[in-house]
Amino acid sequence: MIQYVSTKGGTTPVHFETAVLNGRPADGGLYVPTSLPEISLQQLQKWKNLSYTELAFEILSLFIDDSVLSESELKNILHKSFVPFFHPEKIPTHHLKSKNGVYLQELFHGPTLSFKDVAMGFVVNLFDFFLKRKNKHMSIVVATSGDTGPAAAHASIGLKTLDTWTIYPEGFITEEQERQMTTISSSNVHAVRINGSINGSDDLDELVDALFANDTLKEELNLSSVNSTNWARVMMQTVHYFYGYLQVVDKIGEALNFAVPTGAFGNLCAGTLAREMGLPVDKFILSNNQNECLDKLFKTGLFQKSKVINSHSCAIDISVPINFWRYLYFSIGQNPDNIKSLMQEFSENDQVLFDAATHERFSKGFLSATVSDERTLDTIREVFQADDYLLDPHSAVAVAAYEMQKENLSQGSKTLCLCTAHPSKFPATIREALNQENLPQQAVHFSIESSRILCQRFYDCKFDTMYEAVSETMKKSVQQKESLSAY
Ligand SMILES: *Cc1c(COP(=O)(O)O)cnc(C)c1O
Repeated sequence: MIQYVSTKGGTTPVHFETAVLNGRPADGGLYVPTSLPEISLQQLQKWKNLSYTELAFEILSLFIDDSVLSESELKNILHKSFVPFFHPEKIPTHHLKSKNGVYLQELFHGPTLSFKDVAMGFVVNLFDFFLKRKNKHMSIVVATSGDTGPAAAHASIGLKTLDTWTIYPEGFITEEQERQMTTISSSNVHAVRINGSINGSDDLDELVDALFANDTLKEELNLSSVNSTNWARVMMQTVHYFYGYLQVVDKIGEALNFAVPTGAFGNLCAGTLAREMGLPVDKFILSNNQNECLDKLFKTGLFQKSKVINSHSCAIDISVPINFWRYLYFSIGQNPDNIKSLMQEFSENDQVLFDAATHERFSKGFLSATVSDERTLDTIREVFQADDYLLDPHSAVAVAAYEMQKENLSQGSKTLCLCTAHPSKFPATIREALNQENLPQQAVHFSIESSRILCQRFYDCKFDTMYEAVSETMKKSVQQKESLSAY
């Protein structure tokens, strides 16, 4: 049986289904498998020609017991989750001709045009499958920095097993992202706009933590989370590293670099797990915007919470990259006592200074960079002019970080830059970068255009009173539903 434990070691091991439905273990840690599967180069060779969903099946099978999800059940859930993708290849790769050895992995062809769709459709469908089997209903809360909310909302449309609440900070996300949440008319999907938040989605993460800390509420609503604290999100994200690798390398065994725009460190954490499982990675290029917490951490060993700065790449405007803890757990040898005291120290002091040995261990195989808004805009313009390829601001952060670090990469090594959103979600930034009012056709997507004419529907709520407002509203909504279904 494959078992899941808390990084803080305070809960008994559970199997996959419980880890997914709980979202987070009760001790405030993060779920991790007790061991990671090992994948040999021979195995990679055999997987060379698989489609993305076929490869996903092979990799996920290693994390999920047959008794929890049979082969055909897993295949069906995967298939269903990727049907809404706009591209037949699901996650295609593009070669950037103007830069030697640089490839782009397009993770943004899902229904809400960001990389969040890659794991979210699957995770929400998993919830639905497990809940149907148990004949249960759950409420999901999602705090969002712009892309997680739309992905969760979209994936939940029409499901009877779930009510999904996306909570977003006004002024911290684009109008296009907001409309992706507020123009959904499915009665089980709710959007909540918070006015007056100071630290954007980090404040809302704290709100979600507070909701979860309320046991009565948690029980009454049967509350769970599909933020990247949920193991299934991270697990699913390991797949695109393998897939991209197999598409780009000339020879299996060759080490590849990955440049990754990072916020909560979920995507990068998945990359490090893939590396741990045996994927030949040369360097990860950790790409921060001005919210440089992780760049600083990897360069100096100081993990420090700071105020969130609004940037053009809003989905990575995050000051506390929660999934760093999950990576650290594996990186320093699966010692839960250690993680527990470090997490404790961080929550008390808003910072931890790692000792030199630990810092050296976790920063191995990493390069990092902080990319300013100005440099992001320049990169969008340069790549557009040289390649006729339009990067979104997040993908541009990864390409810019590659440029800043390319001297430190191994001679002749290739780099895959993870492109995490479609430019049509950020028209104002694209206009500014290209210094033109007319958007090029690459910045227009019909799904965004069609949301512009619809009415918006959302709960409006003040930051100061959000805890009570959100919890009472959720309760009332569930009670109304129950009394309606009693007739
Ligand atoms: C969420 C997101 C990221 C960052 O992913 P993390 O797992 O939070 O590090 C990067 N780019 C875009 C567009 C995103 O939506």
